[in-house]
Amino acid sequence: MRTPERPREQGQDRWSDILEHLAAAAKLVDLDPDFHRRLQSPSRSLEVSIPVRMDDGSLEVFTGWRIHHDTTRGPGKVGIRFHPDVDAREVAALAAAMTFKTAVMDLPFGGAKGGVRCDPTTMSLGELERLTRRYTWEILPLLGPDKDVPAPDVNTDGRVMAWLMDTVSMARGEGITASVTGKPLSIGGTADHAGGTATGVVMCVRDTFQELGIELAGKRVVIQGFGKVGAPLAFLLHSAGMRVVAVSDVHGAVMNSGGLDVPALSEHAAATGTVAGYPGGEPIEQAELFMIECDIAIPAALEGAIDREVARHLAAPVIVEAANGPTTAEADAILDERGIVVVPDILANACGVTSSYFEWAQNRQGIAWLDGVAASRLAHTMHHAFTTVWASSQTHKVSLRRASYAIAVERIGEAMSVRGLFP
Ligand code: NAD
Repeated sequence: MRTPERPREQGQDRWSDILEHLAAAAKLVDLDPDFHRRLQSPSRSLEVSIPVRMDDGSLEVFTGWRIHHDTTRGPGKVGIRFHPDVDAREVAALAAAMTFKTAVMDLPFGGAKGGVRCDPTTMSLGELERLTRRYTWEILPLLGPDKDVPAPDVNTDGRVMAWLMDTVSMARGEGITASVTGKPLSIGGTADHAGGTATGVVMCVRDTFQELGIELAGKRVVIQGFGKVGAPLAFLLHSAGMRVVAVSDVHGAVMNSGGLDVPALSEHAAATGTVAGYPGGEPIEQAELFMIECDIAIPAALEGAIDREVARHLAAPVIVEAANGPTTAEADAILDERGIVVVPDILANACGVTSSYFEWAQNRQGIAWLDGVAASRLAHTMHHAFTTVWASSQTHKVSLRRASYAIAVERIGEAMSVRGLFP
């Protein structure tokens, strides 16, 4: 099996968690064992060295990956992450999650992910551009509108996507807008890719509360992470009348049981680079965040935030996963036992990849859709996916995560079945 070796920890990691979710779903839908075996390892994995001339004249060699987990249903999709902790196993896990996410949303894509092990916070803009272009060049054999279409993720944004699109276009000798999504508007992009993800999370919050018969207005929410997804999410939930009672980021956490003034908090974060020290709330330990009494908790930072210990003490009756992989499989079982409703990442944050699909489709068509068309298609696609998953979870009496994976696995199995096995 070509699954990447585990380089660091001995315990369960995100890749093992994905295999566990896959196995449970495969059992539920009685997936053909051959299809199950095919999904247990990434279909294509490229590790590259990325030499970059730094501003002081020295040379740094970074390591990066682009991994296709499965492309049976369409080109590989999605994000590229720049982070010091990235490794092959994590990228493989994120790629696999994309296979299931695109399938549960019924988008014509497979699952891919890329990453470069680096700390972009210590790099100049020039260094970041040279890193992005050389990385793109190295993974070029895998890229293209019909093969693999990257998008932003942690520490990458529209500017990085523009460099990516330009590098692919220069290398191929033609302007290929559909080679990347999450680009700036001026080159056929989407206005706010991560904002789209936040919008979808809010739709899931609304749909969940509606199914549970709970009014949204005045309900208390805690959010972990105040970045490209967490910050607009806090704003949207505050605007929807919810009370954002606590927020954390990598530097600290702040709480106000009456509800934080989110526009003022955003101004503070924009000025200081963190939510910590916001004068309109009291400081709390980051570890306390999920213990705060509230109606819903939203992890919107990195993987593994909700582990076994957090799951045992988490106070919210509902979790909506804005981040990718915030709950370990072990924690997931505990939350399930405790009767906590968890809207899983592959459903809750799927609006980002859905708006990427619409961006790619418009680039391929060579025509921009009329105002409002993408937004209404997004709302329709999200709501349809949510109600399908909710109904399946009720029918099979399983968690929303199990139901989401089961729907995804069934669709991928169907595609594998009709395509057959090459050669
Ligand atoms: P980002 O880098 O913009 O923001 C991450 C946030 O998490 C920052 O506020 C950071 O300070 C915070 N954080 C990091 N470590 C933390 C810790 N230990 N405790 C508390 N906060 C911590 O990243 P993003 O784009 O907002 O992505 C956040 C999550 O959402 C990731 O899991 C990502 O994969 C997922 N996601 C992002 C998109 C997108 O379009 N950007 C789409 C789908 C899913």
